[in-house]
Amino acid sequence: MLLDMDLGVLLPSLIPSLQSVYVLVFYFVYLAVAGEILPGKVIRGVLLSDGSQPRYRCNGLLALTLLVAILGICAKIGIVSPLVVADRGLELLSATFIFCVLVTLALYVTGRNSSDKSSSLKPHVSGNLVHDWWFGIQLNPQFMSIDLKFFFVRAGMMGWLLINLSILAKSVQNGSLSQSMILYQIFCALYILDYFVHEEYMTSTWDIIAERLGFMLVFGDLLWIPFTFSIQGWWLLHNKVELTIPAIVANCLVFVIGYMVFRGANKQKHIFKKNPKTPIWGKPPVVVGGKLLASGYWGIARHCNYLGDLMLALSFSLPCGVSSPVPYFYPIYLLILLIWRERRDEVRCAEKYKEIWAEYLRLVPWRILPYVY
Ligand code: NDP
Repeated sequence: MLLDMDLGVLLPSLIPSLQSVYVLVFYFVYLAVAGEILPGKVIRGVLLSDGSQPRYRCNGLLALTLLVAILGICAKIGIVSPLVVADRGLELLSATFIFCVLVTLALYVTGRNSSDKSSSLKPHVSGNLVHDWWFGIQLNPQFMSIDLKFFFVRAGMMGWLLINLSILAKSVQNGSLSQSMILYQIFCALYILDYFVHEEYMTSTWDIIAERLGFMLVFGDLLWIPFTFSIQGWWLLHNKVELTIPAIVANCLVFVIGYMVFRGANKQKHIFKKNPKTPIWGKPPVVVGGKLLASGYWGIARHCNYLGDLMLALSFSLPCGVSSPVPYFYPIYLLILLIWRERRDEVRCAEKYKEIWAEYLRLVPWRILPYVY
């Protein structure tokens, strides 16, 4: 879409209108209220060094379902246009960017002025303004008792679905709804819903437990996830792709196998951490040094969960065919990110587990894709 526009059209469409600001404000207020009042399982986060343990109410699935229902009803009775995001995508993107800058400057100032000594709010200041603004100063800053880190990641994942739904409405309206668009929409919707079904797993991820809240994380959550992960949808609005039946079947297989590997691997590790004796695929698990799981997906490759995620990312792009590299932005980005992450993670694990890790490397020689990498 961007490539088709000349600068004279592009620049004005990047200036946020009052309406795009209203959309963002409504969205954040809804998420704040829904996150606080809707019921949901309360999960304790990791134990911090001062002995405190953040709590997260995992009601994202209910909040998302209710939001989609409210927007659906409002669209039906004509209060809200389902095209509002698809028509104002660039404005919303720039409004979100401005919000990210403002909110992270506020986080920087409040972080610097904090004298709190708790692990969550203790300031980590390097003294370099850009560094501290980019990586953040506090681990778990809050606003009106809302954990902002958990809030922003939720807003980003839900935003991705809302953008997709608006793109879907636009394609129905302009008569361009295709098999490719339907496949793309179904795969992404299932992935996002699955994320919220398993929202509690998020509370033990690296971003939540270790990263401080600065521009990098806020930008990644609020802008990068919803706006770049939906590039395929925007692309399909403007490009027609004819898919053969074998191509559709192959695409569905990539999605299903990717999902089984991604969810299966993450679940096996989650269960193993809770109870290392739980059988894996019906057999007692192979455990290295009492700490590392070496059976199931974790006996096939050391980062099988990344393999599943990469297959899923590929399945979101395959409906776009192979005529352009643009819809492959997400899988290419994810490949680079996960290889970089896996390398850093292995260094950390080698230091943490020492000879146990070396033994695990002997048992499971492949990093992500057996016999290839
Ligand atoms: P992992 O869930 O793979 O966690 C890595 C950690 O797991 C290690 O540091 C170690 O931690 C533990 N571990 C590693 N091997 C074993 C083993 N054999 N047995 C037991 N424990 C082990 O990594 P991430 O948090 O990076 O990723 C989680 C999910 O999120 C993945 O599926 C990934 O694909 C996805 N993801 C998606 C992104 C996206 O943009 N779509 C971005 C990043 C991640 P410990 O010290 O606790 O033992």
